[in-house]
Order: sequence, then C-alpha cells, then structure tokens
Amino acid sequence: MSSHPTFSAHDLAHALDGLHPDLRILGPDALAGRHPGEDPANLNAGVMAQPASTEAAAALISWCRANHVAIVPQGGLSGLVGGGVSHAGEIILSSARLNRIIAIHADEETVEVEAGVTLEALQGALAPHGLTTGIDLGSRGSATIGGMVSTNAGGILAFRNGVMRHQILGLEAVLPSGEVFSDMTRVVKISAGPDIKQLFIGGEGAFGFVTRVVMKVEPIRPHRAVALLGVENAAGALQVAVRLRRHSALLLEAAEMMWPRYVRDHAALKGFDLSWLEGDSALLLIEVSGTSAEVSTALIEEALAELWEEADLRGGIVAQSSEQARRFWDLREDSVFYFAEFPDAPSFDVSMPPSALDTYVTDLFQRLSAIGSGLDAYVYGHIADGNLHIAIAAPGPLPTEMKALAEDAVYAGIHASGGSFSAEHGVGLNKRSAYLTHVDPVKQALARQFKAMLDPDMLFNPGKVPF
Ligand SMILES: Cc1cc2nc3c(=O)[nH]c(=O)nc-3n(C[C@H](O)[C@H](O)[C@H](O)COP(=O)(O)OP(=O)(O)OC[C@H]3O[C@@H](n4cnc5c(N)ncnc54)[C@H](O)[C@@H]3O)c2cc1C
Repeated sequence: MSSHPTFSAHDLAHALDGLHPDLRILGPDALAGRHPGEDPANLNAGVMAQPASTEAAAALISWCRANHVAIVPQGGLSGLVGGGVSHAGEIILSSARLNRIIAIHADEETVEVEAGVTLEALQGALAPHGLTTGIDLGSRGSATIGGMVSTNAGGILAFRNGVMRHQILGLEAVLPSGEVFSDMTRVVKISAGPDIKQLFIGGEGAFGFVTRVVMKVEPIRPHRAVALLGVENAAGALQVAVRLRRHSALLLEAAEMMWPRYVRDHAALKGFDLSWLEGDSALLLIEVSGTSAEVSTALIEEALAELWEEADLRGGIVAQSSEQARRFWDLREDSVFYFAEFPDAPSFDVSMPPSALDTYVTDLFQRLSAIGSGLDAYVYGHIADGNLHIAIAAPGPLPTEMKALAEDAVYAGIHASGGSFSAEHGVGLNKRSAYLTHVDPVKQALARQFKAMLDPDMLFNPGKVPF
C-alpha cells in the first residue's frame, strides 16, 4: 500500500535483530504456518515485532519512522473488518508479549493491564477477587484488551455498561513519533481539559500503539439463569428486556436475538430441539443473575409467566443445568456457522435506536429480496442496544454491482435513524467505502487533520480507515 517496499521481510528481520533487549523479531520462517486469525491476509507482511515493554515498542517505532517502514499493530487477530491485514514491506507490531496484568485494585474495582492480555485471561485473573470485566465478547479467548480498545469493542454487556470507551480510565500508547503518551489515570472523574486518550479508543491502530490501560471492572455475579424464548419481533424481545432491567431482584446480563432463518438453519445444523417453539419465530436468549441459581431460575420463570401474553411469547425454556445453558449460548455465539455453506458471506455490523429495529429488519428483507434473483440474510445481535449482525446468505465476494446493491440495502436509513454503519467491529479495510459515504464530511476532515498531525508520514496502519 503506502509503504515503501524497500525492505524484504528477511531484510527487516535482519535489520531489527538486536535493536532492543525486550524486542523479539519473528521473520518469515518463524511466521510460516501460523494461524492468521480472522483474515487470511493478516500475516502477509512476513515479519513481526513483539516488544515486551513500552520502551522496546518505542525503539521499534522510532526505527520504523527513521527508515520509513509502515507498521500494522495487531492484537489477537479476532477483528472482523480486515483492520490487522498487513502487506509486504510493512512490519507487524504485535502486543503478544505485552501480556502482564500489572495490578488489580480490588476495592477500587479497577485493573492496570498491558495491551496484549486477552479478555479471557483478564477475566480469569479477576475471578479470585470476586470481579470480572464489564465487557464481554464471544471472542474472549483471543481478543486482547489493546485490540478491544482500538476497535471500541462492545459485546454482550454494552446495553448496561457501555462500550470500551466507557470502561477505560487510563491509557498509555507509543505515538508514531516514538514518544510515549502516558495518561494512566485511575479515577472516573477528571475535568482537566480535553480527554486526548479517546483518540486511541476506536482509533484502529492509526494513531499509535496502545501498550497499557486502566480499566473499570465489576463484581462477578455467579448465580445465573438462562432462558430461550420465542418472540415474534424485536418489539416483543425488547419488552422482555426492559421489564427484566426494571426487576428489583434480578439483574439482566444478556439479551441476544436471532431472527428465524438464523434460528432454523443453526438449530438444524446443531441438532437443537425446537419442538417447543411456535411457528417460524425468532429467538431471544436472556441471562439474568440473582442471589442464588435457584432464586434466579424461580424469579425468571415467574417474570416470564407474567410477561407471556403481554410480550406475545411463542414458547420458552429455562435452562435446568449449566450444560444446557451452554448449549443455548452456543446457538448464539457460534455465529459463524453460515460460512460453511456460504464462504466469505458478506457480513455487516450495524446499530440503531432499538425502537427502529423492526421496521429496519422488515425493510431490509424486502430490499434484499429485490436484488438479482433475490437475496436473503442471517440476522442476529445484541438486541438491547440495537446492534444487529447481518450476513448475506450467499457466498462472497458478491459480483461488484450486486455488492453495491446489497450494501445500499443494509445501510439504507441507518444514519437517518441515529444509528451507525459500524456498531462495534470498526472500519478496517472492509468498511472503507461505507465510512466515506456515511460519516459526516466535517468529521472525516477533522480525523484526517488529527492523523496528519500525529502521523505525518502515514506509517501507522496505512490503507485502513481512510484518512
Ligand atoms: C466469534 C467472534 C465474536 C465476536 N464478538 C464481538 C462482539 O460481541 N463485540 C465486538 O465488539 N467485537 C466482537 N468480535 C470482533 C473482535 O473480537 C473485536 O473487534 C476485538 O476487539 C478485536 O481484538 P483483537 O485483539 O483480536 O484485535 P486485532 O484483530 O488484532 O486488531 C483489531 C484492530 O485493532 C488494532 N490493534 C490491535 N491491537 C492494537 C494495539 N495494541 N494498539 C493499537 N492498535 C491495535 C489493529 O491494527 C486492528 O485495526 C468478535 C469476533 C469473533 C471472531
């Protein structure tokens, strides 16, 4: 892309050898055969730097600036928009060895952590303190805190706790100049000028390399109940979610919806018994916590009985064991099942005010069915904050004209409704044209100015978010 392919991967690996004692360099041989993560092109640069300290990251970045070598920051490679894709002539800057949990301040409910710690590792370290993260994602085993910061990840608990932006109290990053931006504050309240660290949250690796953060955490609530409910539409699902949010003795932990085709095809694939579900209904998965598992189960059964007619429920089951609860969750979290039948199916991640969901989804199916000989889609998502994932039921990439029509069908009306063409996955490579079309031009111009100021040589993650 915009890098100068002056150096081969072998040259780069050789030139960087011994640059800093905390820096490990992996060349093409060491990277051969490695799993590239969610995008097959992630490791194409063929050379990876793994700093184990902020100083080592700064030394590498300074060297790259002096030698005009582009840098692609990478975390757990679970990103879904090609934000970590790298090319020959670039160097991958991986957070893999920045994997220390620096301090857990249990009474303050905060944690200081390096960027390469995975969400699951952090949850594991917090558990003995009776704490957990206020953000949770299906990709918890691979997604890193630095990657989640950089994509402003959302996930299952965003309806209650907000997204990464609302969880991060402090942040350290190495700038494209090699300087270290350090704002490791540990408090919620700071009224001392603009909050510059926000630039790195959702910055997708374009403004610097995130090395450490301070994050809020919350008490773990182990006593759970999980239910699967048949619903006619999002309005019914939201009615359940809103009622449970106001329940005096239960805390809503998740409200995830799957539309009928997703339910049908996934249940058939998994051999999941849906004989209790009336008709071709959508499914709502809810999880609640209470004072004990028995109390949670009893209260959710009582609440659902009260809601049955009001929310027009089409059947429902409450998990009677943690194994059954896991199977419920598997229907929702093993969401990429459709790629087996439709490889590279074009997929989208949009948000809108929850009250706009039903009209949007009805119109979406109509718009898609009018394309070519008719397109259909798998629709599912984090219903309580209006975040839908949409995958076209066709192998990708679609022919150019059909692709444009499908994108128009998915994005129609979203901006006007107050939503976003990208809810939680970012822009990366794959949503560049949507960014150019749907983001306010003045906002785009400001972002370009910030980029030019911090990274005048355009060395950080070139070719992704269009600056
Ligand atoms: C099964 C599955 C479920 C998922 N569920 C959710 C979900 O519910 N909610 C959600 O928001 N996302 C979800 N995702 C997407 C993905 O997990 C998130 O985007 C996650 O935040 C990416 O983290 P990562 O460490 O894998 O980052 P990567 O994929 O490695 O990188 C993502 C982006 O961040 C940049 N980056 C990474 N680390 C750094 C760093 N230290 N400094 C600067 N830039 C950096 C990269 O350049 C790239 O642009 C899901 C993905 C999968 C596969």
